[in-house]
Amino acid sequence: MKSIAVAPSHLTSILVQEEDKLLACIHCGLCLEACPTYVVTGDENDGPRGRLYLMRAVGEGRLPNDSHAFERHIDRCLGCRACEQVCPAGVEYGQLLEAARGELFSSATHRGFRYNVLRFALKYIWLQPARLRFVFAVARLMRDSGLAALLVKSGLARILSRRLEFGLALLQSSSPENGRQSNSGGKRSPGISPLSGVSNDVASPTKVCATTNAAMLFSGCVGAGLFARVNKATVRVLEVNGIDSIVPSEQVCCGALHAHAGDLAGARALARKNIKAFSVKEGLPIITNAGGCGAMLASYGHLLSADETFAAAARTFSDRIRDVSQQLKLLGSKAGSSIATEPVTYDASCHLLYGQHAGEAPLEMLAGISKLNFARLEGSERCCGGAGIYNLLEPDLSREVLAEKLANIRASGAKVLATGNPGCQMQIGAGAFLAGIELRTCHPVELLDESYARAGLYNQD
Ligand code: SF4
Ligand code: SF4
Repeated sequence: MKSIAVAPSHLTSILVQEEDKLLACIHCGLCLEACPTYVVTGDENDGPRGRLYLMRAVGEGRLPNDSHAFERHIDRCLGCRACEQVCPAGVEYGQLLEAARGELFSSATHRGFRYNVLRFALKYIWLQPARLRFVFAVARLMRDSGLAALLVKSGLARILSRRLEFGLALLQSSSPENGRQSNSGGKRSPGISPLSGVSNDVASPTKVCATTNAAMLFSGCVGAGLFARVNKATVRVLEVNGIDSIVPSEQVCCGALHAHAGDLAGARALARKNIKAFSVKEGLPIITNAGGCGAMLASYGHLLSADETFAAAARTFSDRIRDVSQQLKLLGSKAGSSIATEPVTYDASCHLLYGQHAGEAPLEMLAGISKLNFARLEGSERCCGGAGIYNLLEPDLSREVLAEKLANIRASGAKVLATGNPGCQMQIGAGAFLAGIELRTCHPVELLDESYARAGLYNQD
């Protein structure tokens, strides 16, 4: 392998390690039209080929790793990995992006207020489970008391800052009631049914048919903090299909936020904890219901490849990761009853589609719902602009990417949108909320859970 000459003063070790992957790009440009940021800006540097060029320039020491161009265009990447799918040379862009962000994280100490806040939160909150639980408890209080929605609807949040307004709309859209109350009134949307006839307490689960197998559930930090209902629905649906869920109490955040921000040391620390937490039942699959978490967990093998103690365990761990839709597809899941008359559509999470390669599995889960009024969504495979906390770090570009998604949702006529990642659910829900579009966002497993309840598959005795 030809080695790249790098001045010792440059912190280019992370990108140099990925040299072979960088050199694989043949500059054909086939990835450009697949890239949402290139399509919006038309700037080559906001496309995969331009970003790879910048990475290579830094790796070869021709560009300092704290240069404005490198920082700006790497920051503006959504990390959606749509470019990987169309690349004839098989460039592993996701891993290169992770290396580039690691480079930035290790080189740039003064990247502005919002990045300093992010660094602080990643280090002092996300790595500390008790503090993280407290933050989510406060967030739930703001959401469930109606304060978040009130601040947005009153216009006060917008006066203070548009970023704050969007942040509160994201929080509001994580509510189980999102889209069920019209944006201007308090009337429940017709045809969209609240979950009924099901206990929402996993500690005392609804009795269902006897199960024969088991799996481990990755609950996720945002999942446990804001989407506990999705985890509970996942447990119930798996149970109906013969799978008992084991939820390790020692599990922590998957580390996706750290990896996306370039804090690879933080991501590795969390990965080691999760590998230990899930090692108690080695042979069992690990089920996720969040595309972002699933893709991150599936990448532990690469993340810890240089860790002599954990490399082998990380590869085994990654091989065990399955989205709930993939597990149900393997099982050949049971069908449920009809639940709604209004059009339901599906938007693919990029990380579920491109990171976990779930393909049609989530759609097959929805197909298990009898007489579902399904509306096709144009561009469902394109990123919604959420991308972790990209929507708060790069709000303008995120909004432009989201605008196309909202236009397509309007055109579909859907009143319910299912998607397999909490970040996408919140991004699209927040966009719809602020645009006055009546739309309930949810996880496909919630709809299947509702249809199972309607079918009487849950015994309340
Ligand atoms: S990951 Fe997405 S946003 Fe980034 S370069 Fe690839 S297609 Fe574009
Ligand atoms: S499609 Fe692949 S080889 Fe072609 S320019 Fe994009 S990254 Fe490079």
